[in-house]
Amino acid sequence: MTSLISPLTALTFDLDDTLWDNHGVMVATENGHYDWLDDAIARLDIQRERMSERFPLGAYQERRQQVAQREPLRRGDFTWIRQQSLLEMLREYGLRPQDAEDYAAAAMEQFMIFRHQLTPYPEVEALLDELSQRYALAAITNGNVQITRLSLARHFPIAIAAGEMLAPKPDARPFLAALARLGSPPSQAMHIGDSWREDVLPARRLGMRVAWIDKHGERPGDIPDGVFRLDHIRELPALLARLS
Ligand SMILES: [Mg+2]
Repeated sequence: MTSLISPLTALTFDLDDTLWDNHGVMVATENGHYDWLDDAIARLDIQRERMSERFPLGAYQERRQQVAQREPLRRGDFTWIRQQSLLEMLREYGLRPQDAEDYAAAAMEQFMIFRHQLTPYPEVEALLDELSQRYALAAITNGNVQITRLSLARHFPIAIAAGEMLAPKPDARPFLAALARLGSPPSQAMHIGDSWREDVLPARRLGMRVAWIDKHGERPGDIPDGVFRLDHIRELPALLARLS
């Protein structure tokens, strides 16, 4: 039986909530760039009412949902959706069109600075170092982390930004793009990720094996064949040793 199963030669990794805990990063990023913008706009002294009074954080979040619904082709491109939302609100607040564009762009630069202030789990560097000697590695993310801005980039010569492809996971395309660049058939690849819907299901459907980091305690009743539940990325080497 085991002889019918291809050996694994390639691993694809989700990033957020797989290689680091992303919740704190997103809270700090969301608040940090919006506070920065609020202060910058207050210094322009256009209105007595502050930007954050006219558009509290919740209004910014609602605006992003509206923009996303209005622009279905941009689905998954969260960076664009944010910048467009900021641009609209800044215009409505009273900035001239060019100023609104400049400040929306500057706020997104701040967003990206906060977004990359993240700390991978302490085991991750050594784990990737070791795995990269035995497997071809790739990253597949829906998030707007630019892997080249992280020290982890050296482990991931192949990094697929699914949002920028306008095909966020669970779309199969980012997985297929990664496999093509890895030169690996799905049967010889394992995907490692935390989301049942965005990582486990699409990868399994393609015939990849999946290490599911059950970070959110989802525990569905039936775990399909070829899906292996882990509590933490640190358990991955033991799983791979068991499978080889
Ligand atoms: Mg994730």
